[in-house]
Amino acid sequence: LSLLNQIELAPPDKILGLTETFNNDQNPNKVNLTVGIYKDNFGKVTTFPSISKAQKLIDRELGLNKNLSYLPIKGGKDYAENVKNFLYDESCSSSDTTKNYGKDLLDNNRISFAQTLSGTGALAISAKFLSLFISKKVWIPNFSWANHMNIFNKNGFKSIYNYSYYDLKSGQLTVDKWLSDLRERVGQDKSDEPHCIILHACCHNPTGLDPTKDDWDKIINTINELRMVPVIDMAYQGLESGDLLKDAYVLRKCIDPKYVWDNGLFLCQSFAKNMGLYGERVGSLSIVSPAHSPSTVKLAVDSQLKRIIRSIYSSPPGYGSRVANLVLSDPALKSQWFKDVHGMVNRLQSIRDKLSYNLEWDTVNDEQQHGMFYFTRFSLPVVQELRDKYSIYLTDDGRLSLSGVNDSDIEYVCDTFRKIEQ
Ligand code: PMP
Repeated sequence: LSLLNQIELAPPDKILGLTETFNNDQNPNKVNLTVGIYKDNFGKVTTFPSISKAQKLIDRELGLNKNLSYLPIKGGKDYAENVKNFLYDESCSSSDTTKNYGKDLLDNNRISFAQTLSGTGALAISAKFLSLFISKKVWIPNFSWANHMNIFNKNGFKSIYNYSYYDLKSGQLTVDKWLSDLRERVGQDKSDEPHCIILHACCHNPTGLDPTKDDWDKIINTINELRMVPVIDMAYQGLESGDLLKDAYVLRKCIDPKYVWDNGLFLCQSFAKNMGLYGERVGSLSIVSPAHSPSTVKLAVDSQLKRIIRSIYSSPPGYGSRVANLVLSDPALKSQWFKDVHGMVNRLQSIRDKLSYNLEWDTVNDEQQHGMFYFTRFSLPVVQELRDKYSIYLTDDGRLSLSGVNDSDIEYVCDTFRKIEQ
């Protein structure tokens, strides 16, 4: 008897599975608003000017960079230096924190860093590392990117809990409830195993609503008191305010030395959205070791990180990271990149405004939402009806990808939404 016979059919992926259904849909009016990919008004996935310039440079002028050899296990050295500087120096020097603490982390060599297969790769390697050495318990917001659960579940986590982030009825964040849940449940857990917590750094997926700075201060204070291990998921840096540096508030705040993260601080970062490098899989994982820990700690963390990566995919892909590296290291390309992100965010905002204007929903606080998505608060039956009857595809949680709405389909989308509500 084959054990293969006992394998159950896995459910289709909650997001990517829908595109498969969409592709088979014969309705000429079909609209795919599922995946978080930025598209232009003609439905094309755009390449930012900064990125295509960098590509041309690599192609035509920097012939040497075309070599297709392996990168080191943790990625290229230049990439590591440039990304660390971008994240911990530039993104950490802002007027909302008194000092650039990130610079201290760099100067004191406290960051274990690996180039990863985008944000998902960073999260998966974190989960593997955490479950092997630190903890198998993690908290995820009660609405979240569906893959969070999948990644932690498939990488050794035994206990996955939800914290109360958002109330569907009122459409408001529930920060007080979130923190009282944690105080009660984590505070009363007397075991030595700490609890990890995933924090969406900005542009919370799917609700588009983020805590205020004051709320973040309270949240970070509480999780620090509870000795939790922060796993910051920064997949949308720049897409909240249009300013890449400004959006790293949660990172800046967490590395304030008044917080000692005994079991490390994890940052999972992606260039998929803010550089449009989706399929190239470019991102990073950093593990910040506690202040005053002996230097052997960082060495051990580095070495285990390498070992985990080596066992899974050996080393990261080269091309996309060379593009990102060039953009980060060339001042002209970099300033173009900052402009490109601004431009994308302005267009996303204008689509949000158009939807908001056309729909006139007072039940959806759409003016407070940020990022790539619009959270409709449609129930699952409504989402299904939209798909089955009208071929408008949203994710099950009622999230739609803003840039999928364009001049040619906005009328159809808004008319249908209004109709379906009645
Ligand atoms: N975290 C969140 C919250 C996301 O929405 C995404 C992208 N959809 C990711 C991480 C990672 O994406 P990628 O692996 O493409 O960088």
